[in-house]
Amino acid sequence: MKSNRQTTLRTHVAVTGVGVHSGLPVTLTLGPAPVDAGFVFIRTGLDGCDHEVQATAKNVVSTEFATVLGDRSGPLVATVEHVLAALRGMGVDNATIEVDGSEAPVMDGSAAAFVAAIDQAGILTQSAQRRFIQVLKPVSVAMGDSLGELRPYASGFRAEVEIDFRNPVIGKQKYALELSPERFRRDIARARTFGLMCDVKRLWGNGFSLGASFDNCVVFDEERLLNTGGLRYADECVRHKLLDAVGDLALAGLPLLGAYRSIRGGHKLNHAVLTALLADRTAWRVVEGELSRRPTRGVVEVGSGIGGGRIAAAYGPDVS
Ligand SMILES: [Zn+2]
Repeated sequence: MKSNRQTTLRTHVAVTGVGVHSGLPVTLTLGPAPVDAGFVFIRTGLDGCDHEVQATAKNVVSTEFATVLGDRSGPLVATVEHVLAALRGMGVDNATIEVDGSEAPVMDGSAAAFVAAIDQAGILTQSAQRRFIQVLKPVSVAMGDSLGELRPYASGFRAEVEIDFRNPVIGKQKYALELSPERFRRDIARARTFGLMCDVKRLWGNGFSLGASFDNCVVFDEERLLNTGGLRYADECVRHKLLDAVGDLALAGLPLLGAYRSIRGGHKLNHAVLTALLADRTAWRVVEGELSRRPTRGVVEVGSGIGGGRIAAAYGPDVS
């Protein structure tokens, strides 16, 4: 990484689409935010006033079907993971994310529209040094046959994701990368949400995923891909899981210095591992400054006092 000052967006930019679960139209507007603001969602059009919610793990109220942020009044914004992945993946530290409906728009099921919006707005370098959460020791969570782990890593953030579906068309896939804006844009941002036709039908039957279609979801049956346009990457499914992990781990509140490994995971596992890390005050610290191959050089410790609060429990199956 080169310059390690914080960044924000130069201006406001709006993205309009439908919510994947509600099927309703929604406009999401990205905008600038001051140094150390992090990512702040502003839910408008609810009770006649705006509700702000910081994009942090303790404000997660559900990980069922998608990652949902809320407050004491209940859920405020669902499906936050793809826009958060775009912001974190493209190296933005501080932004407001205004949403006029109950969930972020699904667009094409990937983060591509949000990356395009960030490009359109432009990225502004701010005066303060970038701050990170540095993982100091391994923290792992086993959940059924899923396993997630954050561990120390010398030179930035690395993600290693494995999926293993009984469905023979998806099967086993593995993908790993060191996160950079270049890698995110090229290899991850365009990977779409995916699902099995049998699950999609079940979700529709229960009133979920009403906005899901072949325009925003890669759908498989037991024998083949059902989208006529084909895949964007041969291993698009595991790349989308990695995209989700980048978005879910953005809820650390600061970029992570560490490596994340996820086996058969999803939103629930991502949240559980991040929660386990933040709950252990000896497992992380906040540092700021220039990164090098040797992370302790030129990095100043600034304490471990943020983000360690109690995290809301989250239940339910993982659906990408
Ligand atoms: Zn996703």
